[in-house]
Order: sequence, then structure tokens, then C-alpha cells
Amino acid sequence: MPQHPTDPACIFCKIVAGTIPCLKVIEDDRLLAFLDIGPLSCGHTLIVPKGHYATLDQMPDDLAGACAAAAPRLSRAIKAATGASAWNLLQNNGRLSGQAVDHVHFHIIPRREADGLGYRWNPTKLDAEEGRTLLAAIQKAL
Ligand SMILES: [Zn+2]
Repeated sequence: MPQHPTDPACIFCKIVAGTIPCLKVIEDDRLLAFLDIGPLSCGHTLIVPKGHYATLDQMPDDLAGACAAAAPRLSRAIKAATGASAWNLLQNNGRLSGQAVDHVHFHIIPRREADGLGYRWNPTKLDAEEGRTLLAAIQKAL
């Protein structure tokens, strides 16, 4: 089993270690998925890596990939079990994004008609010149 960094003060590290109980959905040597104890909807599930990384951009690519790769199978099972017709995959990084626990986690949030959760998407328009400048800056940073 690979060695993962941990933070003894982290609630998700404690759940991974088994010192805090959870309702475990799946587990392997790289990740754990469990029911959120403060669900936004019935079936709300968290996927966490077995490794303490505060944000996705700090994680090894393969571990992030393993977490993301669990989402299709988990979402199919959650939809089947709850009757949800849709779902969101949400992954927040940093306080400004809404991240509350500094251990990477992916939310699978089942959605239903009139579930009251809402959805806000306020697009702007990308200026062509700004887009080219931004693209060059991102590609340079890769
Ligand atoms: Zn942790």
C-alpha cells in the first residue's frame, strides 16, 4: 500500500484512518467515498483521496485521476438507489470557492426536480484579445 501524507488534525484524515466513523460507500488503497453527514440532498456522497492534500492542484495527477474515475460508478449507484435524475460533481479549492475542509474532496450531489438547491451560472463574454493573452499565459505556465 502506498504511503500517503496525513494531517492528524484533519477530520477527513481521521475518517480515512477509521478513528472517526463514516458510512462508507467504497474504499480502495487510494480513496474513500462516504455519505456526507450534512447532505445537501439524499445521497450526497464525498470522494476523498487517502492522502492529505489541501487542494486539487497540490495533488499527484494519478491520485486525482483515481478520485475522478470513481465518480461514474458511484453516481450510477447513487442514482439507482435514490431515484435522482441528475447530479452535480462539485470540487471546491480554497475558502473563496466554498471549501470548508482543507482535504481534497469531490461532492456527488444528487439532484431532483424542485429540490431547492438552485443553480447559478452568470456567464460573461470572453474578449478575443484578452482570450489570446490569457491562453498564452496559461500555456506558458503549464
Ligand atoms: Zn486530511
